[in-house]
Parts: sequence; structure tokens; C-alpha cells
Amino acid sequence: MAITLLCPKLTCRAMLRVPESVRGKRVRCPECGTALMVPLKTGPTRQQASQTPKSKSPQ
Ligand SMILES: [Zn+2]
Repeated sequence: MAITLLCPKLTCRAMLRVPESVRGKRVRCPECGTALMVPLKTGPTRQQASQTPKSKSPQ
């Protein structure tokens, strides 16, 4: 399964598809040549902090 990354360079913003085997390594954007770090874990960075608890009601 490939990882999709967005080039951090604002003037490029190319979508890169890299294999999972490059996690934790650096890859180079084919469009602009910027080296970017492939994160070890990808996925939604959203935390579950915004969820309202159901079980604890003050009554
Ligand atoms: Zn780029």
C-alpha cells in the first residue's frame, strides 16, 4: 500500500505516492526536488478530544 504525501513546498504542492518501505526516510519530490520526511505513521491527525462523553451526566 502506498503512502500519499503532499509536497511541503508552497509553490509546488505536488501529491507524491511513495511505498510504505520508505517510512521514516526521506524522499525527494519529483516536481521540485525538495526532500521531505516520510512520517512513520500516517492517518488522520484528529484527536478524539472533541467528542462529548455520553456516560457521564451530572444527574
Ligand atoms: Zn515539490
